[in-house]
Amino acid sequence: MKKMEHIGVAVENMKESEELFERLFDVKPYKREAVESQGVLTSFFRVGNNKIELLEATHDQSVIKKFIDKKGPGFHHIAFSVTDIRAEMKRLKEQGFRLLQEEPISGADNKLVCFLHPKSSNGMLIELVQDKL
Ligand code: ZN
Repeated sequence: MKKMEHIGVAVENMKESEELFERLFDVKPYKREAVESQGVLTSFFRVGNNKIELLEATHDQSVIKKFIDKKGPGFHHIAFSVTDIRAEMKRLKEQGFRLLQEEPISGADNKLVCFLHPKSSNGMLIELVQDKL
């Protein structure tokens, strides 16, 4: 893995949360994007060298809706960038980690992504991201 790419935060109300994080970081979100396959609306902030991704459910079956029902809004996942996502998925599988996808899926911000099951990574939901070529 190369570096931490972003932190994902589950929110109940995108508009209210964008306003809150705008005041917190003193910067406006640079991008809003819906990811239909995941049932989420995302909004990105750049804070120094780091990125924060806000995630709001777009329907009741969304993973974010389920997450918030169980744990409430807040820290959701941490993403690491990789150069070759398939090679990294294979390496992690061989190391005994459970992946939530067999094949990388299309994520926000022009990335290919794959999630690791939090049960196999100390309770943390980890996302691998690779820039789409
Ligand atoms: Zn993410």
